[in-house]
Amino acid sequence: MVENQEKNILNKIIVVTGSSRGIGAAIVKHLAKLGYTVILNYNKSEASAKNVESELKKQGYTVDVFRADVSKPMEAKNLIDFAINKYGKIDVLINNAGICQDRLFTEITDEDWKNMMDNNLNSAFYCSREAAKNMIHNKQGLIINMSSIWGLTGGSMEVHYSTTKAGLIGLTKALAKELGPSNIRVNAIAPGIIDTDMNRGYSKEDLEELKNEIPLERIGTANNIAKSVAWLIEDDYTTGEVISINGGWNM
Ligand code: NAP
Repeated sequence: MVENQEKNILNKIIVVTGSSRGIGAAIVKHLAKLGYTVILNYNKSEASAKNVESELKKQGYTVDVFRADVSKPMEAKNLIDFAINKYGKIDVLINNAGICQDRLFTEITDEDWKNMMDNNLNSAFYCSREAAKNMIHNKQGLIINMSSIWGLTGGSMEVHYSTTKAGLIGLTKALAKELGPSNIRVNAIAPGIIDTDMNRGYSKEDLEELKNEIPLERIGTANNIAKSVAWLIEDDYTTGEVISINGGWNM
């Protein structure tokens, strides 16, 4: 029984977009250490991606690294093709790549808007479309979209960011309905504030103020998100859900 469970884990091929740093890197490390075969994707942070790879390989875990700017349809396809050509299938796709920008709504340029849509929402569409073809063929799979608390509540001065994160929730629910009969689950995770480079712009005082608004009175860690991803992979009856991990900031 235990041997069979171990075999199942080792057989699962998982692609994590945007995993050179932050939440994505924590997901890759956590899943690799659980015994899954993980494909780390980076765009600009090659050194950081290679560090995560060598750290895991030294410890004997299975990880591959593939550079692709997933905001571009051809590069997103190349990433999914790499996983399928090398391992014959893709079991789990985690659409985690994302950017953020603080900007007054009236100052968001066409380029800012398009850039946000391409990186945060269109990337998930491109990767999911390619992965879903293989998953439908295999009659099994899981897609996890990294949304945000701002996709649920809306964030002031982050209208374009919030729009993409709300869009990911729509994508999650509609796709969960369409792909459920093919035994493919689609879920979203909506983190609150997590300690990564994305929040380096906050001052110490800002962070203290934010903590005071959070019932658990602390900022989340990338590992908090990685553990919820692992749970979604292990589970087999949750689909179309948005899992909020925010210390009670939004209930
Ligand atoms: P981060 O530390 O800034 O890291 C962002 C990651 O996304 C990097 O690995 C980056 O890769 C990658 N990326 C961005 N655009 C990409 C593209 N076009 N193609 C491939 N990779 C791309 O951010 P994070 O905090 O870990 O955030 C990860 C996800 O969680 C994002 O979707 C974010 O919106 C979401 N989220 C974060 C928080 C938070 O508080 N941190 C809260 C809610 C939701 P390179 O550096 O290699 O380019």
